[in-house]
Amino acid sequence: MTVTPEFVLPQEVDVIVVGAGGSGLACALEAAARGARVWVCDKAPNPGGATAWAVGAFTCSSSEHQARAGVQDSREQHFADMDAVNAGANRPDNLVLRRLLVDQAPDTLRWLMQLGVRFVGPQLETPHSRPRMHNAVPGGGALVYHLLRHCRRAGVQFQTQCELQDLIVQDGRVAGVRVTLSGGRSASVHARQAVVLASGDFSGSRDMRARFFSAPVVNAEPVYPLNTGSPLRLMEERFGTRLVNADYAAFYIPRMRFVPATSPSWLVRLPPSRLVTGLMQWSLEHLPAALIRPFMMRLVTTVLGPEPALFKQGAALINASGKRIDLDLASPARALTLDPGNRGYIVMDHAVASRFEAWPHFVSTAPGIAYAYLRDYRHSRPDIYRSAQTLEALAGLLQIPAATLLESMRAHWLELGRDPDQISGPFYALGPVRGYITITEGGLTVNDKLQVLDRDDQPVPGLWACGSAGQGGVLLDGHGHHLAWAFVSGRHVGQQLAAAPPQARAST
Ligand SMILES: Cc1cc2nc3c(=O)[nH]c(=O)nc-3n(C[C@H](O)[C@H](O)[C@H](O)COP(=O)(O)OP(=O)(O)OC[C@H]3O[C@@H](n4cnc5c(N)ncnc54)[C@H](O)[C@@H]3O)c2cc1C
Repeated sequence: MTVTPEFVLPQEVDVIVVGAGGSGLACALEAAARGARVWVCDKAPNPGGATAWAVGAFTCSSSEHQARAGVQDSREQHFADMDAVNAGANRPDNLVLRRLLVDQAPDTLRWLMQLGVRFVGPQLETPHSRPRMHNAVPGGGALVYHLLRHCRRAGVQFQTQCELQDLIVQDGRVAGVRVTLSGGRSASVHARQAVVLASGDFSGSRDMRARFFSAPVVNAEPVYPLNTGSPLRLMEERFGTRLVNADYAAFYIPRMRFVPATSPSWLVRLPPSRLVTGLMQWSLEHLPAALIRPFMMRLVTTVLGPEPALFKQGAALINASGKRIDLDLASPARALTLDPGNRGYIVMDHAVASRFEAWPHFVSTAPGIAYAYLRDYRHSRPDIYRSAQTLEALAGLLQIPAATLLESMRAHWLELGRDPDQISGPFYALGPVRGYITITEGGLTVNDKLQVLDRDDQPVPGLWACGSAGQGGVLLDGHGHHLAWAFVSGRHVGQQLAAAPPQARAST
């Protein structure tokens, strides 16, 4: 959804929200619904942030979906299960924020549904003891679409292509922002109540990644490059605020993904209105899987990455020069990110390819939603699917040197104990694939209200954070906790700001 730049900025509002992703929109809507005058700025040309890229998994207990499916669950059980879900992190969790997350997520799912978002589920994802993963239909874009619609109705003002540069601090209190608009013009906007940082993570900053991670993550391509973490650095510099868990990498070790579609399917471009998503949800819940599969495939093949099983079964990863990339099968993306250019093709002969036409070998999966096979890519992603009778012809289609490809594949097959002279076409290639980083976990230190804390762990008056920017050390492993946190934390901040009486506002 495009928001036209409105180059007339307000001089003063009640609440300034920096970032129009899921957390910022949730915060803005809650504050505006309670009468606050809210202004949201985002450096991107369109709102949505990483939220718009998300698959749409939202994990919570006590939903009507669970009730319909006869699942007995509770907030307590979810809280307890998080120990196992986050066990791999091997570090302390922020249990106050975990409590906020699991307690408020069910109500937040209902709130999103009331705004018009439709969910399917619940799906079981171990080690959760209950099925709790709900998926927005058709994905994260629907969350942004409906929140934006309601924000507009509630009178929230937006300014896109508007980047936070600095905070205005008056008498020790954050009282506004200095921003840069497209074209380089600077401007200031004052906030009577609060400035809320909802500016996402730092996955888009190579420098920040280099501060905390080793080469595979540093070289990875960010899915959402505009989240450069500059607001987080600003808080470090101005108030000595600490970043918590910035070095935690479990959930975003580089992942191999196909490059985005050059011309996304008509289905992907449909506005996720109630009517459209209602039809999708009804179809998912009532129609035979075979009937709706072709439509789901158009959606999932746009956002998913290939499974390591392709390489375990004998496919090779070839770079743009035709050379084979040596893989660690536990994390094929790592080797790809270390290869110059971070760009490769998955190449396989007919014998290997034919295994990926049916269960149990799938090219990709959206957990709980669908499995995509080679034929799905042939139909839904012709831009990344190539096949040819000979390797020379395949090299021509990929525009890579044929002799190098032949040599690489011969070496690959010999290594697997296969006789290259017995291998016949057709041959297939999927790609380009790149090693991507989806998100980073490091957020500002916050208290239970999500006020930003300074170097002495005291709240910085007038300054709040939510979403990834305000993650505050809460561990969110597993699918669906990041979106849940974005919306829960955004609402939590928005509700407090709006509810505060004027006298209290002056002293927060
Ligand atoms: C491909 C992908 C799939 C995912 N799937 C899921 C999923 O299914 N379930 C799940 O739970 N999580 C998922 N996640 C993670 C989840 O999307 C994020 O954790 C969540 O959306 C973060 O929300 P946010 O509001 O904090 O940040 P964002 O949605 O990223 O919003 C931050 C906004 O701030 C803006 N901004 C940044 N810096 C500035 C600045 N200096 N000035 C002004 N604006 C600024 C950005 O442009 C952006 O619009 C996924 C992430 C990716 C990338």
